[in-house]
Amino acid sequence: MSDSTHYDALVCGAGVGGLASARALGELGLRVLLVDRQRAPLDVAKGEVLQPGALRVLRRWGTERLLRERSAVGLDRLVVRTARGDALMALDYRQLPDGDRQLLAHDHLAILTSLADGLGPEVEIRRGVLVQEPLRDDTGRVTGLRLTQKGVSHDVRAPLVVAADGISSRLRRAVGIGGRRVDYPHRLVSLDIAGPAWRPEDFAAYLTDRGLRLAYPLPGGRVRLYLQTRSDELRGLDRGRLEEWAAQAVGEVPALHGLVPALAAAAGSRQIFSVTRFLSDRLAAPGLALVGEAAYAVHPMAAQGMNTAITSAAALAEQIGRRLGDRPAAGGPSRLDTATVDAALHAYQAERLPFLVQAAQTSGNAARMVTDLSWPGRVVGRRAVRCTGANPRLLHTVTYNMAGLGPRPLTPLDRLQQIGLLPDPRAHLVPAG
Ligand SMILES: Cc1cc2nc3c(=O)[nH]c(=O)nc-3n(C[C@H](O)[C@H](O)[C@H](O)COP(=O)(O)OP(=O)(O)OC[C@H]3O[C@@H](n4cnc5c(N)ncnc54)[C@H](O)[C@@H]3O)c2cc1C
Repeated sequence: MSDSTHYDALVCGAGVGGLASARALGELGLRVLLVDRQRAPLDVAKGEVLQPGALRVLRRWGTERLLRERSAVGLDRLVVRTARGDALMALDYRQLPDGDRQLLAHDHLAILTSLADGLGPEVEIRRGVLVQEPLRDDTGRVTGLRLTQKGVSHDVRAPLVVAADGISSRLRRAVGIGGRRVDYPHRLVSLDIAGPAWRPEDFAAYLTDRGLRLAYPLPGGRVRLYLQTRSDELRGLDRGRLEEWAAQAVGEVPALHGLVPALAAAAGSRQIFSVTRFLSDRLAAPGLALVGEAAYAVHPMAAQGMNTAITSAAALAEQIGRRLGDRPAAGGPSRLDTATVDAALHAYQAERLPFLVQAAQTSGNAARMVTDLSWPGRVVGRRAVRCTGANPRLLHTVTYNMAGLGPRPLTPLDRLQQIGLLPDPRAHLVPAG
């Protein structure tokens, strides 16, 4: 069966990457079909913190205003601390350019909902629809998608397909784009703590010998807690033993003792995540663009994934918008032709891939500094955290990059200074902006 409705773009996946792509392409007046196999967005604890780089885009779309109206929490600092609470490295966002001075935290579901609520009439969403495979012409170009809904398959065609179908992207694999995937040797347990006696003021990362403990405030007086655990540590634990494990993991951090009384009630909220990083070799194939984790995934504790998905979606649409110029407005015949799509995809990959390579390196280093539990990893990681924290110049560059405003790559000399192997005579020279 074939769907004869005209679309300029088909977007597979209604996570942050797909919703942002649909929003950005719809804004150009393009007719977009967004599909997701889930019948409704899932309430998963996979990303609550938005960085200033993504907030620039969300501000333009009105999504930041929606999130703030829905009680999102503004955070000024991202602080790495000892278990006793002493600050080792404080990324102070208040030193960034005007308009970029806060992180924003809200539940992942609230972020998805706010993005979906901002979609215009150009975007049609269909949920409960599985994308089976890309459709291709004789040259191999992607020309549409084969969809299945309630057991019935049908084909939809469009000049542009966006694969925003997550890290295991079926579409990426179908067009033969490879990449480098690394699974970390630990997992993360998330807990949603309601009504605690104490709340952190910042995005606070505590280093312990058994792993990272991360806490930050969420709306409604709640706290999001992430606990690092060995991959095999929780195997076979029932709810009671898991509660004991969590109480012990939090109990080892004196700074978090104020959360302990509320832990038992939070046990039912726990979710466990395996942790992976991934970078695809390419961001596009003829007729198809990759956005979000289909192309790029980093350790969650770098708080970069959603942000990169949003800025990539905006970058893709910008490349298309530049080439559309002032062609007939929406509602008319197709505004997108294959030549426009090809030129835009070429430019999208050329602009975005080097950015993602750089961001992957920065995020990978940051994650290693705070989660590597091997003896040398711990020694070097803590040294790097301490030395960066004591060096205003490096601290500013790291804050700028984490905020998604960069990249301002660290030089090999910077890296030696970051682990204290060389003194830094320019440490006091904080870059402007
Ligand atoms: C524990 C954790 C904490 C995190 N914290 C942060 C954070 O603080 N800040 C941050 O920026 N990032 C964070 N991240 C990363 C962030 O969650 C991801 O980068 C982001 O959600 C990726 O969005 P996406 O749209 O690319 O993919 P996904 O969210 O995986 O969405 C893919 C969508 O595609 C759909 N789909 C897949 N295949 C098909 C198919 N064949 N047909 C139809 N639909 C399909 C799926 O149903 C899904 O809805 C965190 C991640 C984890 C795991």
